[in-house]
Amino acid sequence: MIPTITALPLLQLASGDRLSLQIYKFVGEKPGRKVYLQSNLHGSELTGNAVIHQLIQWLSELELAQLVGEIWLVPLCNPLGTNERSHHFSPGRFDPYSGENWNRIFWEYQPSAEELTAFAQSQMECDRLTIEQNYRDRIQTSFGKLAAPLQAPSSKPFSDHYRFLLQSLCLDAHYVIDLHTSSDQGLTYFYYFQNRQTSARLFMLPIGILLDEYAGGAFDEAFMKPWLALEDCFAKLGRKIQFDIEAWTLELGSAMQIDTATVDRGVQAVKNYLLQKGILRVPAAPAPMPSIAAMKLVSSSQMKKYYAPVGGMVQSRVALGKTVEAGQRLYQILSFNKSSGEGFSPEMPTILDICAEQSGIVYDVSINHAVNQGEYVLGIL
Ligand SMILES: [Zn+2]
Repeated sequence: MIPTITALPLLQLASGDRLSLQIYKFVGEKPGRKVYLQSNLHGSELTGNAVIHQLIQWLSELELAQLVGEIWLVPLCNPLGTNERSHHFSPGRFDPYSGENWNRIFWEYQPSAEELTAFAQSQMECDRLTIEQNYRDRIQTSFGKLAAPLQAPSSKPFSDHYRFLLQSLCLDAHYVIDLHTSSDQGLTYFYYFQNRQTSARLFMLPIGILLDEYAGGAFDEAFMKPWLALEDCFAKLGRKIQFDIEAWTLELGSAMQIDTATVDRGVQAVKNYLLQKGILRVPAAPAPMPSIAAMKLVSSSQMKKYYAPVGGMVQSRVALGKTVEAGQRLYQILSFNKSSGEGFSPEMPTILDICAEQSGIVYDVSINHAVNQGEYVLGIL
C-alpha cells in the first residue's frame, strides 16, 4: 500500500515562512472504520513520531486488500511546539501566547441535557449504526459553526485555528490514538475511558489508567466524551448501548528522547490493537496478550503527584518504576537556606526527607533535580 500524503497549511510565521501538517492516509480496498493516530502534540514528546514512522513502513508493505477501512497518521502534529526551544531544552507543552497547555484547548460537542435526552428518545427504535451516523452528523454540524469566525476579518487566536484543523481530521474516526510521553521521565502506560477495558487489553501494556476525572479540553476527551454522554443518556432511558468509538492516549516513556525499546513497545501496542480490531487482516500468530487481571488498572484520581515543600536540590530519589511503601523515603531536598538583611541569622544547609503518603509505583519523575518550592518532583500510582 502506498499512502496518500497530504500537506495542510497551518500557520504563517512573521518571517513569511509557513508551518504545515502532513497526513499519511492508507485507504483499504474495502470501506470500514477509520483509525486516526497523531504524535508530538506536546512539543518535547518525540517517541510517537518514531512509532508512526515504523507503522508507515509496516503498512506500506501490506496489500490494499489487507486493510479494511482507513488509517490516518499525523506525526509532528504540533510544529510550533516541536520547534520551541529554551537553550537545548524543548518546552513545547504550552501555547506561548496564552500559556494554555496544548492538550487542553480542544473543542467538545456539549449539547444540553434536554437536547441530548430528546435526541436519544428520538433514536430509541434505531439500530446502533444509524444512531452513530445521526449523532456524528450533529457533532459535525455543531463543529462546522466554528469555521466562520475563523474566516472573519477579526479572525481568532492561533489555538482556535489549530484545534479546528486538527479536530477536523478525526471527528469522523472510530478510533483515535494520541501518542504522548511524559514531559519529564516516565514509564510506558495508557489512558482509557469507562467501559473500554476489553479493548484496553489489546495494547498489551502493563499499566492502564481509567480517566475517572477529566482534565477538560484534552484531545482524547474532546473526541470521546460526547459519545460517553450519549451512552449514559440511553442507559437512563433503559437502553444499554455501546458505540464502536474509542479514544486512547498512550504515554511512551520520557520527553526529548527516542528510546528504541520504548518505540518497539509502542509499535507493538498499536499493531496489536489494529489487528485485533480487524482493521488489518494479516496472517500471523496472535500475540500473547496479558489478562486484564495481570494488568495494573487504576483510576486517574489515584495518581498522586508530589511537589517540593521547600526549594532546593533533589537527591537520593527512588528510581523510576520502583514500588514504594507508605512511609518509605522518596527523596531528599538539600536546601541552602539563605537569609540576608537586618535579621540575618546564618544557617547551615539542611536535608529534608520526603516520604510516601501511600504505596504504589513511581511512574514519573522530574528531569530537573533543582526545584523551587511547589515544583513537581515525582508521581506515584
Ligand atoms: Zn503530552
